[in-house]
Amino acid sequence: MTDAPAHGFDTLQIHAGARPDPATGARQTPIYQTTAYVFRDADHAAALFNLQEVGFIYSRLTNPTVAVLQERIATLEGGVGAVCCSSGHAAQIMALFPLMMPGNNVVVSTRLYGGTVTQFTHTIKRFGWNAKFVDFDDLDAVKAACDDQTRAVFCEAIANPGGYITDLDAISAIADEAGVPLIVDNTSATPYLCRPIEHGATLVVHSTTKYLTGNGTVTGGCVVDSGKFDWSASDKFPSLSAPEPAYHGLKFHETFGALAFTFHGIAIGLRDLGMTMNPQAAHYTLMGTETLSLRMDRHVENAMKIAEWLENDPRVDYVTYAGLKSSPYNKRVEKICPRGAGGLFTFAVKGGYEACVKLVNSLEIFSHVANLGDTRSLIIHSASTTHRQLTEEQQVAAGAAPEVVRVSIGTENADDLIADLDQALAKATA
Ligand SMILES: *Cc1c(COP(=O)(O)O)cnc(C)c1O
Repeated sequence: MTDAPAHGFDTLQIHAGARPDPATGARQTPIYQTTAYVFRDADHAAALFNLQEVGFIYSRLTNPTVAVLQERIATLEGGVGAVCCSSGHAAQIMALFPLMMPGNNVVVSTRLYGGTVTQFTHTIKRFGWNAKFVDFDDLDAVKAACDDQTRAVFCEAIANPGGYITDLDAISAIADEAGVPLIVDNTSATPYLCRPIEHGATLVVHSTTKYLTGNGTVTGGCVVDSGKFDWSASDKFPSLSAPEPAYHGLKFHETFGALAFTFHGIAIGLRDLGMTMNPQAAHYTLMGTETLSLRMDRHVENAMKIAEWLENDPRVDYVTYAGLKSSPYNKRVEKICPRGAGGLFTFAVKGGYEACVKLVNSLEIFSHVANLGDTRSLIIHSASTTHRQLTEEQQVAAGAAPEVVRVSIGTENADDLIADLDQALAKATA
């Protein structure tokens, strides 16, 4: 399919990036299970290696199955290009890598996926990078945290684990003023519920492991570029604006314009970091994207019913779902994610840590796993698992206090899920 913009989301999620296989006419995108691609001749090979011609060389960099997924996600997000990689965490490194040098920092929200808090607190320090954690509801604090070493601002659209909604328009205005890109992790929202680029994001990252694949089969990640940032406006981003020695002094921004970040991601990021998505994973994720909107509508409908039921249950202290009128984030739903607040939220069980552990042990339909965005309903007690590495203060700031469980509501019958929660709460609070 060519020119996308005229088509609706449901059409694009099936067709964007894909066309019948030119060799065989295969209607479904084939899994190109190959490492390398034959050059037409020596001149063709030279042009590919000089980035003068776009084509396939070696599957660490590009693969036709992965390329379809890249184009599909870029289209759904309203970006100009995307680079897929091996996991959501790989996507975060791939997004920061062209921006950061030793001594630079990224200003990040305290409300993040637990693994991201750990990656940003400890691991990126090994690269000489630093993360400054700030409450993103405090706009003055975000502004104050941006200094002359800041190279990006990072947050989640619908944030883990509580389903909190970030005011992306306000945050992107601060990033603009600081002259740095806003990176939004759109994993929990998906482009069906939220399109961060329309709210000023420069880059969007995904764990495609979650809703985009949709059934807990493969890990993957993606970085989408809006194509809107001027990398040459300052000397802050030399990887994109200055001559690149490994390509004979080529300047990515000058040469590739709006596609500079995407080309850099492939030609430098995947080439040298090697966090490549494999074609099998791309295939499963392509299958998933075809039904994304259908699933997300059901995730949202079920989450709303279950959150309302829990909120009215005396065994529950509070529910954080932003779709509830009682949520302080409810007023942002209309602006940021008008089709609904997603399928992810937390609730606090009367009886604290012990009751949470009993609840998790007593559920029958809900699975106790460290994952989200599956058709199956999932539950986790964050404080004893995903957020275990954090201090109690960090747990509370992240919305993963000890008395709280996180649910990822699946697409089963809502009545069955409510009955399961009902029997497990009875055991947990007996
Ligand atoms: C799962 C997740 C990640 C990490 O993705 P992986 O594919 O597990 O590496 C990052 N951000 C969010 C919001 C996630 O849910």
